[in-house]
Parts: sequence; C-alpha cells; structure tokens
Amino acid sequence: MSTPSLDFDPSTVPLPQGHFIGGAYHSTNEPQIAVYRPSDGQLLGYVPDASASTVDYAVSNALHAWKTSSWATQSPRERARVLTRWAELIERNKVSLAQLETVSSTRPVAEAYSFDVPFTADAIRFFAELADKLGGDVAATRRDSLGFVTAEPYGVIGAIAPWNFPLSTCSWKCGPALAAGNAVVLKPSEMTPFSTLRLAELAIEAGMPPGIFNVVNGHGATTGAAITRHPDVSKVSFTGSTRTGAAIMSDAALHGTKPVTLELGGKSPQLVFERLTNLEHTARCIARGFTTNGGQVCVAGTRLIVHKRIAEPLLDAVQRLLTPIAPGPLWHSTTRYSPLISRGQAKRIDSLIEESRASGAEVIFGGGYFEDTGDGCFHRPTLLANVTEATPAVREELFGPVLTVQTFEDEEEGIALAGHPTYGLCAGVHTSDIGQALRAMRRIAAGTIWINRYGRSGDMIIPTGGFKQSGIGKDLGRQALEASMRHKSVLIDFDAM
Ligand code: NAD
Repeated sequence: MSTPSLDFDPSTVPLPQGHFIGGAYHSTNEPQIAVYRPSDGQLLGYVPDASASTVDYAVSNALHAWKTSSWATQSPRERARVLTRWAELIERNKVSLAQLETVSSTRPVAEAYSFDVPFTADAIRFFAELADKLGGDVAATRRDSLGFVTAEPYGVIGAIAPWNFPLSTCSWKCGPALAAGNAVVLKPSEMTPFSTLRLAELAIEAGMPPGIFNVVNGHGATTGAAITRHPDVSKVSFTGSTRTGAAIMSDAALHGTKPVTLELGGKSPQLVFERLTNLEHTARCIARGFTTNGGQVCVAGTRLIVHKRIAEPLLDAVQRLLTPIAPGPLWHSTTRYSPLISRGQAKRIDSLIEESRASGAEVIFGGGYFEDTGDGCFHRPTLLANVTEATPAVREELFGPVLTVQTFEDEEEGIALAGHPTYGLCAGVHTSDIGQALRAMRRIAAGTIWINRYGRSGDMIIPTGGFKQSGIGKDLGRQALEASMRHKSVLIDFDAM
C-alpha cells in the first residue's frame, strides 16, 4: 500500500555532526569516517573516529552525571516520566526520524515510518512502564531477622550497536539500561551513526540529565574496544556478529571480568511440515522471513526445511511472492525492498554463493543483482537448492536475501535438519498439528520459536536472544531490565542492634 505523502528529497535531510557527550555535540580534530548512503552509494557525510581519549572523556562525563545527578537515586517512577517524554518526542518527530533513518541506512521510508520509529518509541515506553514493577525476593527468616534482595544499577553501561536497525537497536540497548538507573555510552555502527545522535538530542529535550546518555562514533576495533576495556564501564551490552561478540567477551573478561549481554548472528530455519492449514500464509512467512531489509535481519529465516510432499507447491507460492519484488529509491513511499549495506557486504555474499555452487548448490530462483540502481547493491531474492549441512550458505550467516532449501521425509529428520551446529537464534515451525508443533518447539535449540508465523510483533514483554553462539542474555522483556541491574543480598539480625 503506498503512502505518497512520505516521499521526500534526500538532499534536504540535515545530518547531525560529531559525538554527543555530556548533553551536547562535541567536536574533535580526530580523523573522519566517511558515511555512504547504502541505496545509491553516494557520500553522505562524515563522523569523527573517536580515540581512546574521547572515549575516556565520554565515560568520565557519564560517570560524573551518574554520581552527581538524581538519575540513579530518584525513584524508577521519576525516571519513567523522562523516558516517557522521550518516547513521546520520538513519536512527535516521526517523519524527520524516519527520513534520517532512510537516507543513512537500508530502511525504506515507509517501513522506517510505520515500523522502526514506532518500535523505538514503544521499546522506551515499555521499559519506562516496567521500571517500578520488578521486585526483589524477601526471605522467610526468623522473626528477629530480615533477608531480602535489592537491585541497583551498575553505573556506566557501554553499548555497541550494529547497522541493520539503528533506531530500534538503540532503544533496545538504552531503554532497559536507562530505566534501571544507569548512564550509557553507546557506539553506533560507523556505517549508520546519524539517527542515534538525533535520539540523544531528543533525550536531552525530554529532560534526561546531560551525560546520562552519550553517543561516541568510531570504528569497532579501536573506539568499540576502548569502550569495552574502559575501567569505569561496568557492563557491556552488544548487538552484532558472533565474531565481534567473541572479541568483546574476551576483552570484557580481560579488563575487569565485566558482564556482557550479547545479541549475535543467526542462521534460522523455517521448518514446514506436510499438513498446513493455509499454504499461502506459510509462503508469505517464508518469503518475508528472508527478504525483509534485504535479508539483513539477525532473525532472518534463511534455511527452508520442507516436507518432500509439500515442497513443490510451497516453492511455487514463494516464487510467486518473490517475482514482483523490485528495488527503488528508499525515499519513495512505494519502495519496500532494501539494498545491501555496502559493496563489502555484497562481496561476502557473492563469494559464499560461489563457494556453495562449487560444492554442488544450484540457484533455482533469482541470483545476482537488480540492474539500474546506480551504485546501490540490491541483491535479487535468491533460492539455493541441492544443499547439505556442509554447504557454506547453510553453515554460515550470509546476511543477504538468500534462502537455502532442504527437504525431509519424516518429523524426526525435519527437526534434526532444523538444528544448527553454531547458531540458535530463532526458528519458524509451520504445521496444522499442534502436537507436532510443540514437539518441534521442545527439540529445536533456539531462543525464539515462532509457530505458524515468522517475526516479532510489538510485544515487548517477549524477549529476544539466542542460544549457542547466537548470544548470551536477552534484549526486551523483563529479562533485559533485570540484566541492567546487579542484585544485592541483605541479611539483618535485629537483636544484635
Ligand atoms: P559487527 O559485529 O561487524 O559490528 C557491530 C558493532 O560492533 C559495530 O558498531 C562495530 O563497529 C563494533 N565492533 C566491531 N569490532 C569491535 C570490537 N573488536 N570491539 C568492540 N566493538 C566492535 O556487526 P554488523 O555487521 O554491524 O551487524 C550485523 C551482525 O549483527 C549480523 O551478524 C547480525 O546477525 C547481528 N545482529 C544480531 C542481532 C540480535 O539481536 N541477535 C540484531 C541485529 C544484528
């Protein structure tokens, strides 16, 4: 459905500049990182590449604000008022935020407007509302004693984010950390820094004390690592690839044994059994599951595991849905399909497909790129058959619109194929047999199981997070708020007073 009023001219969108530290933009003489518009490869602007001393300045500001403002000491309900105002401001600036997200990331304006911005505001509001609802345990002690558990913020939390959903990832990282009374130093991806800076401006407008939420730009191996290693950063919350997650975990271990929350990569299956209530609905779940945001979604359902007897009609229906998909300028409200983030990402996908073909895989739909899109890399939705568990495209996360197809003959085999040796982020299970769905749910090792659907809705109480090398801990849900606090056990004997 088109929303014509959302069309805009990308050259008119102002870009924030610098780092955001202590409640204001902070400019430095550091080397600049060029930021490109993914949709057509044009140079968009620059952000500074923070040195360790800029990270230190940001962390000092955060710690100072945390110790001297009332943020950590006031009641959660008072913090919630600021967070709620922040969510309202995000909604009030929906059009400009959607435009900023669109010019500087892979998100089409219609989706940024109807999904990313509302989802960002909703996540912050959810944690504001949850802030005063978590209680600690009280022990059943003798009458002259009292034992209870109380939760406290860590202090400064370091947050490191990827490029695929910059606005909403920022809210998933900051919402619980701030609601719990921490200060945050966040590094967005160097490829998509701008919308996060704008969120920091709005936090100040909402009344957040300066220094409580800071944004530092820079490369991962330098700026990101300096955040993880900083002695005054007490916890690190990361979303990104499994490889970077491992580096962060190791850095966090070696620099203060600090806790980490890691939301990492995936290679999620969509397991389709023979009996379905609605084949067209399942086909929509499959098609959307691997093409949303050009396949650049951690939870993308990129492995179709389908019963032999239903494979042909299902694949026909999926291909009918994929055929009309077309690229377009992301700032046109009719565009729904996303480009790959960069040429580098395109090369990685190309080589994994080539390696897969060399090992016997066959492209049965799509393949290659849409033409006439300037320098933007719009990869065609692609289906790969004749694959095994050893095929590179089955084994590794491509982060592009590529679906591998495997068939099975009985429930046991289907469930076994759905498992993955490395990843366990999520899985889709499609069947009209509830017993079969629940047996598969129990046996697939993944943090989220979707039954007869694929993808999140706005239910923030349902957390997200992976098993195996897909992560440690959860984003969203009460689990994310609890993980932003440390728990203190208190035992009192009255008679000794
Ligand atoms: P990435 O791991 O390359 O980078 C993520 C962030 O980490 C960036 O800000 C980067 O600068 C920083 N970084 C890189 N090296 C670092 C280091 N040594 N120390 C500290 N920071 C470092 O990931 P990406 O390419 O930006 O994002 C795509 C990946 O993110 C995919 O694997 C995807 O599955 C994953 N992802 C996971 C989730 C989830 O919730 N599980 C959500 C979105 C994306």
